Amino acid sequence: MKNIYLLGATGSIGLQTIEIIEENPDDFNLVAISGYNQLDELIDIASRFSLRMISVKNEEDANVLKKVFTETTIVSGDEGLKELATLNPGDKDGILVNALVGMVGLRPTIEAIQIDRTILLANKETLVVGGHLIQELLEQHKSKLYPLDSEHNAIWQALNGEDLASVKRLIITASGGAFRDLSREELKHVTLKDALNHPNWSMGQKITIDSATMMNKGFELIEAAYLFHIDMDRIQPIIHRESIIHSMVEFNDNSIIAQMAQHDMRLPISYAMYYPKRTPGLTQPLDFGTIKELHFEEVDYERYPLLGLAIEAYQQGGSKRAVLNAANEIAVSLFLENKITFLDIENIVIDAVHNHKVIPNPSLEEIIAIDKEIKTQIRFEYDR
Ligand code: NDP
Ligand code: MG
Repeated sequence: MKNIYLLGATGSIGLQTIEIIEENPDDFNLVAISGYNQLDELIDIASRFSLRMISVKNEEDANVLKKVFTETTIVSGDEGLKELATLNPGDKDGILVNALVGMVGLRPTIEAIQIDRTILLANKETLVVGGHLIQELLEQHKSKLYPLDSEHNAIWQALNGEDLASVKRLIITASGGAFRDLSREELKHVTLKDALNHPNWSMGQKITIDSATMMNKGFELIEAAYLFHIDMDRIQPIIHRESIIHSMVEFNDNSIIAQMAQHDMRLPISYAMYYPKRTPGLTQPLDFGTIKELHFEEVDYERYPLLGLAIEAYQQGGSKRAVLNAANEIAVSLFLENKITFLDIENIVIDAVHNHKVIPNPSLEEIIAIDKEIKTQIRFEYDR
């Protein structure tokens, strides 16, 4: 029985993690959860489990929950996320699932590594902004960091037992997002509703927009570089419309191992939760009779400028990645609030990254300060 500490319980990944826990009550015990805006959803989850801790957005929400769950410790704010991530430090089999969205996930990841906790990471922004800090800390602690993102989970599965030194390149597949069949001209007129309509996956709003701009794929290249200790020029994105192959590893003998499955996040989540064991899960098998064909196309970097920008930000290093992420987070929020157009997202992020003077190896405090500064600046300029 493994204890699960779940950050971002009310989100898309969080709810799918809970589904797996509820299906397998003899294997997993949900101990602590966090939510943010969806208080009713959080209360609903909490009423189905005996929890030790619930973390909420602010003190006001904490006071509401304290009246309902008198046996549970209720915490709030950034401090609450920290308390959840480091609850029961002696629990060596415990797993932290980080399903938060945005760079708010960085600090609790760092804190969990410091208590040697195993972490299942969905929150890719953690590695985008603080990959250098995470990599360094993982070398000093016993903590293991396993990826839930389907591409990285696929690479992890393909690499099982292989020597990293024999890897020639990683091939990361991309669906192309909601607008993959539109020209740049047509992108001028797309709406929020169109952008939220992902062809293959049902996910949280931010990552759905990030998929349409391919910022998501750019983030995933950075994520892969840190997770698998590989140079960026050996990671290749490729468009694969069907999202059946979740990614591939090419070895130095030119053999390629691909991981295939239905596009269903419950599979990568469950693989990581049960690792190193495989168990029958909730995902349906693939039926090659209905799939028939798989398609691959090279990525057009002019069509998706944020993908190239992510590579550039990674290569320039340091604080550029924090700026890339902060500008993107705020631009996506403004788009979700219907305050800017789809193409404004790109312009805002490109300008922010190009105007920033890089600080090499920023500390956590510097990253947090840059994040705040960039977000405030962009909100001030566009939030009218
Ligand atoms: P959702 O938006 O569905 O969920 C995000 C979770 O984080 C919710 O529980 C939300 O609470 C909480 N949250 C949001 N803002 C804050 C904040 N400022 N402080 C504390 N908690 C907050 O996102 P997803 O589940 O889609 O994605 C989670 C992460 O996983 C992202 O980094 C995403 O890129 C990554 N990912 C997601 C995939 C997917 O299929 N969804 C696939 C691969 C990666 P509330 O809802 O109560 O406001
Ligand atoms: Mg992914």
